[in-house]
Parts: sequence; C-alpha cells; structure tokens
Amino acid sequence: MMREGSQFDSKQYGSKMEELLHQGQGGDASEEFFTSYDEVCESFDAMGLQENLLRRIYANGFEKPSTVQQRGIVPFCKGHDVIQHAPSGAGKTTTFCSAILQQLDYGLVECQAFVLAPTREVAQRIERIMRQLGEYLGVKVHACIGGTSVREDQRILASGVHVALGTPGSIFDMLLLSNMLRKRFLCPDHIKMFVLDEADEILSSGFKGQIYDIFKLLPSEIQVGVSSTTMPPEVLEITRKIMKKPVRVVVKREERTLDGIKQFYLNVEKEDWKLDTLLDLYETIAITESVIFVNTRCKVDLLTNKMRKMDHTVAAINGDMDQDTRNSIVREFRDGWFRVLITTDLHGCGIDVQASLVVNYDLPTQPENYLHRIGRSGESCRKGVAISFVTRDDESVLLDIQRIYSVNIEELPANVADLL
Ligand code: ADP
Repeated sequence: MMREGSQFDSKQYGSKMEELLHQGQGGDASEEFFTSYDEVCESFDAMGLQENLLRRIYANGFEKPSTVQQRGIVPFCKGHDVIQHAPSGAGKTTTFCSAILQQLDYGLVECQAFVLAPTREVAQRIERIMRQLGEYLGVKVHACIGGTSVREDQRILASGVHVALGTPGSIFDMLLLSNMLRKRFLCPDHIKMFVLDEADEILSSGFKGQIYDIFKLLPSEIQVGVSSTTMPPEVLEITRKIMKKPVRVVVKREERTLDGIKQFYLNVEKEDWKLDTLLDLYETIAITESVIFVNTRCKVDLLTNKMRKMDHTVAAINGDMDQDTRNSIVREFRDGWFRVLITTDLHGCGIDVQASLVVNYDLPTQPENYLHRIGRSGESCRKGVAISFVTRDDESVLLDIQRIYSVNIEELPANVADLL
C-alpha cells in the first residue's frame, strides 16, 4: 500500500542515508567487522539486571540462561550491537526482550524500541514474551497487526507504548500514516534499539526494502540487534549495512537429529504421580538400556534409590560430578554393567550412549535440551523411543517443544512394549 518515505522530512535523516550508502559499497568481509567479546555469564543473577526483570525471569521458571543468553544479554545491555546466530529454541528472542526491557526508560512513555518479525504471528509471540518478562516493570508493548486492525493499532500506539513490534511492512505503514496524519502516534525520534528477529525469514519474505526504509528514519545513534537461524548472504549484507561492530554470538546447529526417534508423552497430571508411573512403566516393558532425565540432583538420588529397591541396575550421574567420574560411569553403562542411567542435563551436551529408551521424567527447563537429551548423533543409526512425562503445568512447554522442533508428540500408546 504505502511505499517510499516521500512524506517524511528527510533532511534530518540525510547523514544517516549517506552513511548507509557508504557502507553499502562492498562491506567489510573481515573479522574486524565484529567486536570480540568473550564474557560468559552463567547465571541471570550475574548479569546486573534490574530486580523487577530478574524476579520475572525466575517467576517464568528460567533457572539458568541458555548458551546464547549467557553470551548475548550482557553485551546488548551494555549498548553493543549484537548478532545471534543459533537454532530455533536457543533463546534468542528472550535475549533481546530481556536486554531491551533492561534498557528502556520507563519514565518516558515514548516508543524506544522497534522489533521487526517476519510474520504477524511471530510478532505476537515476541509481544507475549516481552509482555511477560516486562510485567513487573510495567512495560507497554504493542504488536502492530495491520490489515483490518489498523485503527486499533493507531489507538493503542497513541495511548503510549515503549516497544512496537511488527513486520517491517506494518511498522513502516504505521510510521508513514502517523507522519501523514500528523498525529505522531508512532514516532521514530526516541527509538534507541532496533531489532530484527528471525532476520533470515524477514529477508526471504521480501522485506529488505522496508527494513532500510525504517532504518533511514531512526536517530543516528541506534543500537541494532539481529537474530537468525541461518546466516545467508542477504542477512550478512544487511547486518554490514546497519550494524556497528556487533558482538557475534554463534551457537552451532545441533548435530543431533530427531529422525528415527518415536516421541510420546505420558500424562501424569501431578508431580506426585510421576514416580509410580515410572515404576509401572518399567514393570510392563522389558527395556534393554534406558536413560532417565530429571531436572535436579535430588531427584537423581531419589529415583536411583527407588529403582535399586526394585532390583533395577542403575547408574547415576549429575552435572556436579567432575568430568572423569561422569565419563567412567557412562563407560560402565555403555559396557552393559547397568540397564538404567539416571541423570540431569549435563551443561548442554548430549550423552553419547545407545539407549533404546529415553524418559524425560521432567521436561527440560530449556527447550534446547530436548534435542540434547533424546536426539541421536548424525552418524548413529540408533532408532529409539522417547517418553516425556507431562504434568498439567508442563503442557505449554510440550507445545513449545513441538513448535520448535516441528514434531508431533503423541500420547503413549498401550502397545509401547512392541515399539522397543
Ligand atoms: P528462539 O528465539 O531462539 O527460538 P526463544 O527465546 O523464543 O528462542 O525461547 C524458546 C522457548 O524457550 C520459549 O518458550 C522461552 O520461554 C523458553 N526459554 C527461553 N529462555 C529460557 C531459559 N533460560 N530457561 C528456560 N526456558 C527458556
């Protein structure tokens, strides 16, 4: 519908345009383009976040930052441009939402951050995350949906927001309309953060022109964040044009795959019912080797004792053990000395064992660990079954896992024994 920023007073943006054109000539392909930044923050506590943000992060059940969060939140909070290249579910959106929330001036009810997304649905998902994390801070966020709700968008924006989200098309249209109508319901003057989430998808949806159109309207001192699952040349090109010496956070695509793994969930309603359910499961099926994942060290001990009492041969490891001890226990399990291995997540890495059954006694607190736990490595031709215990509180986590990995996890059928 509306294109090109001809309605804007472009004089004030002249120097920005020149800078953009200059950077567009060739771009710098060297490492010097990036800022080297090695700090890793292994806990949310150590990040120096505002109390009200930190409390909400913990209230969300986020115990520990994911790998991208450990490397990306702090530099963005310190004002660096940040580019995150990591698979879906790695925690990229949460990184930018937290770092934006940390930096907003809540005394100023003006739009201070634009977050662009490839589709309205993604924009709404980011809005949900931002609103949830910013609840105790009183953040005002709005995802511009466009289409038939343009008037509603205008009304909400006019009432004052700190963050506006949307596809590049809808944000640009809003800026244009605001300028044309001279109502200033969306004004770029106070924007200090500009984030492209799922940049590869945004670009493949043909929004490149609109990204530049918006960028040209922003103040010259702007902080830019980009996240992307893949890093095709178009993403690199745009980052080179709009970012200044970004900190780069790269988490490699997991080599593990879910191909060939049959995945089921088992409704256990309440936490208290898990133990009996597990013992029943082991009564009814003859399992050669299995790995059981739990979320706390305490549960490792509890289950180990209970299963040993039922005459299962159980090995147990946890993230607090040193590497050598863990390795030797895993080796014994692999050699067949034990049938069951009970463990917590081990610092984001998978356990290289050939178990035909993996039980998620607790769903992973970070979805990225689902693949670490049950996926098989590329070269292994292991087929297997994964069963996740799901309480009523876990239902949304299960939905998230299915969305992130594009898998359909079905209820455990009665004939599970035949599948092993
Ligand atoms: P991405 O943008 O990389 O796909 P998200 O930031 O959307 O990842 O996170 C994926 C899911 O993981 C979301 O449901 C989010 O609530 C959850 N999540 C994010 N960070 C954490 C964390 N540190 N601990 C537990 N869950 C998390």
